[in-house]
Amino acid sequence: MRRNKELEDLLDDFFSGERCAWCGDNDRKLVGKDIRLCNSCRRIQALVRESERDQDKHPFGVDELEIAKRMEKLAKADGARFGGINTLKIDGVDLEHAFNQVAQLTIHRDLPYNDANAFEEFFTLAQRRFLFYLLSSIIRIDARRHRKMSAAYA
Ligand SMILES: [Zn+2]
Repeated sequence: MRRNKELEDLLDDFFSGERCAWCGDNDRKLVGKDIRLCNSCRRIQALVRESERDQDKHPFGVDELEIAKRMEKLAKADGARFGGINTLKIDGVDLEHAFNQVAQLTIHRDLPYNDANAFEEFFTLAQRRFLFYLLSSIIRIDARRHRKMSAAYA
């Protein structure tokens, strides 16, 4: 299928640029010399360092360090899930899950019809990757905005 090859090329092009070493996002500006991070991950890195440094001064600040470290973990988990989608094996369950996440964000419930098998039967791998990428750009922004809350209430 010629169209499919074009879509694969388009995805390879999307993901060819440098990406954040933690969250794997390659749509954001990166900073830093050794580890290249987006601004959001950079702030988390600073928070971890700050909390580690203040731990002796404020023994009750342990929670802050825990939360900061959990934020780092969440960012890296996003990187594993969404970084380099052009090479990931995206199956129907990945798409079903991502569509429901977006539905939860917008209408606060799962979609009435959302079948993992249908994604595998009617969409090629390149098409599934493309859909997953589009959904990821919504999920990622929300995850970034709520990273601290998610870490605090995990
Ligand atoms: Zn990042």
